[in-house]
Amino acid sequence: MQHELSKGAENFIRAAELRRLLDEAPENPARVREIIAKSLEKQALSVEETAALLAAGPALTEEIFAAARRLKRNVYGNRIVLFAPVYIGNKCINNCAYCAFRSDNAEALRRTLTPGEIRAQIARLIDQGHKRLILVFGEHPDYNAAFIADTVRQVYAVKKGRGEIRRVNINAAPLSVADFRIVKASGIGTYQIFQETYHEETYRRMHPSGTAKGDFMWRLDGLSRAFEGGIDDMGIGALFGLYDWRFEVLGLVSHALYLQRRHGVGPHTISFPRLRPAQNASFDHARRVDDAAFKKIVAVLRLAVPYTGLICTARETPEVRRAVMSFGVSQIDAGSRVEIGGYTEITDNQRQYQEREQFELGDLRPLDEVIGELLADGYIPSFCTACYRLGRTGEHFMEFAIPGFIKRFCTPNALLTLQEYLSDYATPATRAAGEAIIDREAEAIADPAQKRKFEEYLKKIRAGTERDLHF
Ligand code: SF4
Ligand code: SF4
Repeated sequence: MQHELSKGAENFIRAAELRRLLDEAPENPARVREIIAKSLEKQALSVEETAALLAAGPALTEEIFAAARRLKRNVYGNRIVLFAPVYIGNKCINNCAYCAFRSDNAEALRRTLTPGEIRAQIARLIDQGHKRLILVFGEHPDYNAAFIADTVRQVYAVKKGRGEIRRVNINAAPLSVADFRIVKASGIGTYQIFQETYHEETYRRMHPSGTAKGDFMWRLDGLSRAFEGGIDDMGIGALFGLYDWRFEVLGLVSHALYLQRRHGVGPHTISFPRLRPAQNASFDHARRVDDAAFKKIVAVLRLAVPYTGLICTARETPEVRRAVMSFGVSQIDAGSRVEIGGYTEITDNQRQYQEREQFELGDLRPLDEVIGELLADGYIPSFCTACYRLGRTGEHFMEFAIPGFIKRFCTPNALLTLQEYLSDYATPATRAAGEAIIDREAEAIADPAQKRKFEEYLKKIRAGTERDLHF
């Protein structure tokens, strides 16, 4: 395969340096507290500073947790953005050791949704109340840029009742600059590429050479090509459990700093999925990341990249998700099915079908139940997509660059989209709990003009006369 990297591409993972930092960083309480103070000033941390946080022992780690909670409250408030994944097709030319969709797994049921099946999946998700989706594709000639772009357009075209999908993100293989342009033109939000592991030797073991994914640099450079292709909204991620989790945290931070340095835009989101059981998959159990380490991963990332959204997916159990929510998670999926066609074809909500999915989920609760728990825990579930739709692109930049942005835009929009959900899709108990929170939050809007406008919008949504009102 002929690969053309982005202009000026480089391997920005300084593996020996990261290893040295991890091996040599002693626990240093005074230094850790200094670094925490810097982060609470909303300044991004260096790789060396992140390594110092990772070296903290149990007592200091409690201080890191407390700081992460504080930073999350200060930067993001109590909003949690909700989305759902849709697996479009599981044909794949790659052979990643940990994945049920890999080409060697003869027992996987291979399938690509037809346009009619895509419409049915999307209609079902709209009926649940979703507004934001991430479409997931295997790597295969059938899923080229034109196919991805066409799928995105099909998704946006589905209307059902009062609902529609307002933002489509993508998780797919790294493309060429020209192909990224084709996908961008379909109106996507974030393009997500997970490096899986930033440790090159492990990467080579997990992704056989001779496969498209076997090329470490092609993947590492993927989002720089996306940027050249006009996509400034990027998601990075690592799959925890392939190599030393502390190295992967430093890899993610190196990647975030590199994108910021090179393109002036950091990643919009970071994902940190842990390996899950998958059909005929194999992995090194010694690298398993336990719950205590997982909590530290989330808290340290929160402090290291204060302005990057953190995504905790339904791979995790409800208990773990609840525990890390307060440390800085800003987005979660809910009501998710990862089997191809799962939203319409699976009737037993508690069962999983390994031959149809990439990995097992840990949280199978329906959207309404997740929203009920978020409300009970004091969060505002949000389906906001306003910036993207108003052309306020680079929203991650806007969100923090403009003073008061969250107060003026994010919080009222979270409340209005929550009201849409409550009016159109929620169970009576969730609706009552949610409306009580909306009324309380509305009282707290300080600017009289904004409060008037908000109340006018809220009234219209509650009356059912209008939808999609936003700031
Ligand atoms: Fe294919 Fe992705 Fe699975 Fe690798 S992880 S085998 S690229 S679907
Ligand atoms: Fe995101 Fe913009 Fe909505 Fe805030 S107002 S939640 S930045 S889309």
